[in-house]
Order: sequence, then C-alpha cells, then structure tokens
Amino acid sequence: MDITTVFGTVIVGSSPTGGTKKMTLKNYEVKDLHIPDEVTTVVKTLKNKGFEAYLIGGCVRDILLNRKPKDWDVTTNAVPDEIIALFEDTFYENTYGTVGVVNKIATDETLRTVEVTPYRLESEYTDNRRPDSVTFSKKLEDDVQRRDFTVNAIALDLDEKGTGKFFDFYTGTEDLKDMIIRTVGEPTDRFQEDGLRIMRAVRLATELGFTIDKNTEKALVSNASLLENISKERIRDEFIKMINSDNPMSGLVLSHKLGILPYIVPELEVAVSIEQSRSHVYDVFEHSLRALQHAASKKYTLEMRLAALFHDIGKPATRRWSKEQNIWTFYGHEVVGAKMVNKILNDLKFPKKIIEKVTKLVRWHMFFADTEQISLSAVRRIISSVGRDNIWDLMNLRGCDRMGMGRPKENTYRVRKYHSMVEEALTDPISVGMLKLDGKGIMETTKEAPGPKIGFILHALLEEVLDNPALNTEEYLKKRAKELVKLDASELQKLGESGKEIKEKEEEEKIKEIRKKHWVE
Ligand code: ATP
Ligand code: MG
Repeated sequence: MDITTVFGTVIVGSSPTGGTKKMTLKNYEVKDLHIPDEVTTVVKTLKNKGFEAYLIGGCVRDILLNRKPKDWDVTTNAVPDEIIALFEDTFYENTYGTVGVVNKIATDETLRTVEVTPYRLESEYTDNRRPDSVTFSKKLEDDVQRRDFTVNAIALDLDEKGTGKFFDFYTGTEDLKDMIIRTVGEPTDRFQEDGLRIMRAVRLATELGFTIDKNTEKALVSNASLLENISKERIRDEFIKMINSDNPMSGLVLSHKLGILPYIVPELEVAVSIEQSRSHVYDVFEHSLRALQHAASKKYTLEMRLAALFHDIGKPATRRWSKEQNIWTFYGHEVVGAKMVNKILNDLKFPKKIIEKVTKLVRWHMFFADTEQISLSAVRRIISSVGRDNIWDLMNLRGCDRMGMGRPKENTYRVRKYHSMVEEALTDPISVGMLKLDGKGIMETTKEAPGPKIGFILHALLEEVLDNPALNTEEYLKKRAKELVKLDASELQKLGESGKEIKEKEEEEKIKEIRKKHWVE
C-alpha cells in the first residue's frame, strides 16, 4: 500500500460515532490492508456484539507508513468487564482499563497480545506524569483527544472484507505525509500533563526520521526538566526504542541539542566536547555515537549497541594531560567506564543480564588496542576474562570502536589475525580427554597399576578414535584396553607415539584451516 493512494481516497466527512462535529474529520478508505488475522478477530468479536472497535495509535501510524507495527492497540466503547467476557484468554492488571487479549498460538511475538482499551477521558494531571483519575467514555473523540501526537491519533475502522476507513480528527494524515511530530492540542499543556511525551517526541522523530513541529519543539525545550519527574522505567523503555532504531546517533544528537540528554543519561552529556589525542579526530561524545551508529548499521543486539555507546564513558573522568608526550591520556578508562556503565544501566532499571554483559564488554574493550604483539596465550586470557559467550561480541565491539574513529577499513589484516587467533584459542584441543574412557577407567578395566603403560594405552586408543570417531564408546574402548594391556610396554609405546604424532598433525591441520578461512598466515 502506498501512502499516496491513502491520501487520494477521501470518502466521507462525518464523525464515525455520529457525535459532535466540532472537530474536523477526514475519512479515508483503503482496501487490502493486510491486517493479521489475530488482530482482525479481536475487532470482529467486539463489533459482532455491537460494540465499536477501532485500531488506534502506533499500529495505524505504522500501517500508513508501510512499517511493521511493534504492537497492536484497539480502542472501544466496551468497558473492561465487557471486554473480558468476550475472550477466552485475557489479562487485566492496570489502572488504565487496558485488557490484554492473548493469543498463545500466534507465531509472531508482536501478535501474542492485542491490547484493548476502553475509550478514555482523562482528568487533571497534577504530578506531570499521570492523570488524577481516568474515566471511561462512550465517544471515540474523547479517546483520540488524550493521545500524544497527531500521527498517533488516527483511528482505523475495519470492516468484514478487510477494507478499512481511517478517521483522522486532527492533522495526523497530513503530518504523516509531511513527516512531522506534532502534539494533539497545545504542546505546553500536553507536556505538562505527562513529561514522558517530551522524550516520546524525540524517540518517534528518531525512529520515523520525522522532524518535530516548531511549536511542539519550543514547548519541548522549555519543559525539558519535567522529565525529572518521570519514572526511570518509562524513560528506559523510550531510550531502548531510540537505541534500537536505525538512527540512534541522530536521536542522541537531537536529545543533546534540545536539552533532554541530561535527563536521560547525564554521563553522556559530560562527554560532549571532551577532546582526545592522536588517532582520535572526534570528541568522546561523537566518537561514542559513531561507534553506536556502526553497531546499528550492523543490526547488532541492544547489548552491543549499549556497549558501543558506553565503551569510552570513563574517558572524561580519567583524562590527564601528559606534558612529556604532549597528548591527552585516559589510563584506566575501561575500568572506570565499566563501573560507570554499571551504575547508569542500574539507575535506568535495566535487567541484570543486560547490565552484566554490557559491563563486561566495556571492561575488556581495550584488550585489542593495547596489545601490539598478539600472542595466543594473551587471547586465551581475554577469553577467560570476558567469557566464551561474549568473545565474538567483544571482537565486534572492537570493530565499532574502530569505525567510530572514522577508520575506513573494517577488515584489516590485524583484525583478521585476531579473529583467527580467537577461533584457534576456542578450538577444543585434541587430547585423550576426548575419549569416553579415562585413565582411571582403564586401570579399573585392566587391573593395571598406575604407570607409563596407562598413558601409552590412552594414546593408542586416541589414535584409533581419530581414525574412526565411531569407535569412541565406553564399551569398545574397554574391550580394546583389555587387548592392549596384553602387549608389552615397548610395543605399546610405539602405538602410543604414533597416536601422539597423528594428534599433532590433526591439530596443525585444524589451525591451517582456521587461518585460511581468515586469510592470515
Ligand atoms: P511503538 O511503535 O513504539 O509501539 P507507539 O506510538 O505505538 O509506538 P505505544 O507506547 O505502543 O507507542 O503507545 C500506543 C499509543 O498510545 C500511542 O500511539 C499513543 O496514541 C498512545 N500513547 C502512548 N503513550 C502516551 C502518552 N504518554 N500520552 C498520550 N498518549 C500516549
Ligand atoms: Mg505501539
């Protein structure tokens, strides 16, 4: 569906509920909306019982923009009890009347629950974050009026045939076309009702690549400090969406310019204009954002993006001028930075698992920069510090760091060499430890006393298993050990030695393969 066809098909101009006509209303009819069945069913069920039901909010906005909705919201004139009675599996836990309609068999995570909320009217907001009370309404007009931005206030009426009509009470469809974020109603009032909307405006502008309407932006800037009253969890959720977007760098630049960054992550604001030396052409802030942007361009995970953004967060605090070298130094910034990122993410109430991983990546990110000479034992040490599970992320973080410095080449010989060595270090060594029978087992089976003979038998068995891995069963090895123990020591030794040789050759081959794969010597 192309947005131009949507705007081309204006049908009628009356209120869908037949209510007040004070507000301008534009209706658009569109065919083939491709709404998932899981969602259509919920709407149909409500409508079949005579209730009104509209898709509303982000999902309608995303449909019009041809983006995949992150979640689905339905608004209705039914009240919670009436909604709950209509569906088999629901949950109802908040004070705002939202009923989650659950579809356990949906394969797509975003379709597991459809949120159904009664039309709502909101009273005064005395604490800048929540309405003093919520009452349910019978009119769609009331519900769209409480929504944050015009592009989030378009309702979509689905009919039987999968055709839909858009009801736009404000300038939502126009603003979508012009790519503008504008509050529903007076921006100052709307931000003072709920300060989180300030951050939502910036987050949505970032995600959608929109600009913020001038009037809305003015009110946003002068009310930025309202974000102080907002719970960290709500700020975190918007922050995550911004970081996970395609252009997190522009989101954070905008946050800085509009003066809201100090209320999101004050430590990042401190990094602005912190100059560096030598190979760094960017200040710490810009370098960090560029590293993050590289992570986004690679579609890396949230943890990786956070690690890229915060890897140098310890730099402002550790910066010293070296008279001897005539440069800025940042000794220990990775240790300080790891502590800082741990605190930042804790303050924002991130889950423990994410905090642990990001902290580890920040703590060890300097390894590759430090070592001029790459030794396999040094690589082994870093793997044991950061953990086997994180080593490839650490390598990729190094890539983000380099790209954040403006280095044009990602895949240099040195980087490939590191990759190769990590893989070598991770390869399980070929050893008698692979056998399904150990020295103790051999002694029990053969009744042989401890001594060099046991070692010879182990190596002889290893030779056979390397030749034919199918033989590596306890049963076979026991049987074979009993035969081998009858040979005299020198014969056994010969067998064992050749086992060792094979092992060394196999190991060499493995390493050759790895190096060839990475194009290194
Ligand atoms: P996303 O695509 O990230 O889900 P969204 O706009 O759908 O973005 P949600 O948090 O899912 O954001 O909220 C759904 C809808 O609820 C919004 O589109 C908006 O209409 C309304 N809404 C959400 N938060 C607020 C708020 N703080 N104030 C007013 N309306 C809000
Ligand atoms: Mg949504």
